[in-house]
Amino acid sequence: MKVAKFGGSSLADAFQIKKVCDIVLSDADRRIVVVSAPGKRTKEDIKVTDLLIAVAKARLAGNSYEDEIQAVVNRFESITKDLNITDILPEIESTLRATATASYNDDVKYLDSVKAMGEDCNARLVARYLNSINVPAEYCNPKEKGLFLKHDANGKAVILNESYTNLAALATSDKLCIFPGFYGYSKEGEIITFSRGGSDITGSILAAAVKADVYENWTDVDNVFAVNPNIVKNPFPITEITYDEMRELAYAGFTVLHEEALYPVYVRGIPVHIKNTNNPSSSGTKIVAKRTHYDSLVTGIAGDRGFCTVTITKYLMNRQVGFLLNLFKIFTDEGISIEHMPSGIDSITFIIRKKNFTEEKEAAVLKRIYSELSVDSITVERDLAVVMIVGQAMANSVGIMARAASALGNAGINLKVVNQGASEISMMFGVSEAYCDYAVRVLYKELFRY
Ligand code: ASP
Repeated sequence: MKVAKFGGSSLADAFQIKKVCDIVLSDADRRIVVVSAPGKRTKEDIKVTDLLIAVAKARLAGNSYEDEIQAVVNRFESITKDLNITDILPEIESTLRATATASYNDDVKYLDSVKAMGEDCNARLVARYLNSINVPAEYCNPKEKGLFLKHDANGKAVILNESYTNLAALATSDKLCIFPGFYGYSKEGEIITFSRGGSDITGSILAAAVKADVYENWTDVDNVFAVNPNIVKNPFPITEITYDEMRELAYAGFTVLHEEALYPVYVRGIPVHIKNTNNPSSSGTKIVAKRTHYDSLVTGIAGDRGFCTVTITKYLMNRQVGFLLNLFKIFTDEGISIEHMPSGIDSITFIIRKKNFTEEKEAAVLKRIYSELSVDSITVERDLAVVMIVGQAMANSVGIMARAASALGNAGINLKVVNQGASEISMMFGVSEAYCDYAVRVLYKELFRY
């Protein structure tokens, strides 16, 4: 069985929806289809999810929101017209209006409920279109099918484990299941959405629940590329990549899949297949537990800005038992997550995302470190980009670090930090934010154009 998730650009208009249905119907194993809300038809277009956010924001601000609702209705109207299924439009419009005008007592919950309507209405629409061409298909409501979520301590939507058992029943349906992505329900019956791009997570959850053979993620590119195509033209395509490699690259800015989407399939060893709706015969990129082949020594290179470093020095740090534990405790108490930590005998550097280390947090942390751990110095630098070279094959080859470092050096890029984990799957270089893209280009030229 295959679970196939289609992104917003794959479902942006009637023409695209027909393509999607052709793809689904061309393989009898595709039994569960997860849909996003209609996305952009052109570069300047607005995604339905953004139109819905505008509806909710207008209402929350106490303004009229009729024009905003009408913009959403118009999008669905034009799709239903082109697909010859205008009979579904009243259901879509009343669902939208009922949600947008419902009374609320919590702004965030209200916003979530409106935001989810793009996926919800699109799933109804796709199911209806399939019915209109005599395909037995059913719109699957996440509440009825048992996709339950809650908010964790940080307000992030997380799945309740019982959902997997509930959703396993989808495997035995004799109809094609058309499931809206991006949201589920709390046990109290309220809509909870994932963060943006979260339909990827829904697809992964369903694939895990029905123990699918593969989770297909259909998008608008042929492959995942070794480097961001906005930085390097026509980059090397990746045909196969492990979950771990993908995770490292996603961390450093690859945006192919939602960062949280891999976990449900990863723990169950279900492969992910990224495919192009606009070019279904292209082989795509497989994300797997174990590689069958390597196309290149390095799998991918990515860079992300927005980091800072906190370097703490203390003479004889290495001899003081419990020093690091106490240091970690201070960061833990302040709720700051540490991303990397290169160290020396008398110094340690913490690399932290800037957004998690505000000026207030910095003041509080520094005050505590000085008073509780009597260190020699603390230096904070707020201008760091993290550039990662990722590749499982690197573990068995010699000299990549030397090549990468000298290429960066020859290009005049100062390396502020260098880190390689013992797993040898990735190397991390900390450079000035201004050099982020340049460093990625230099490394790509060195490691791929050999
Ligand atoms: N429609 C939502 C978004 O635009 C979720 C998704 O497409 O995955 O973020």
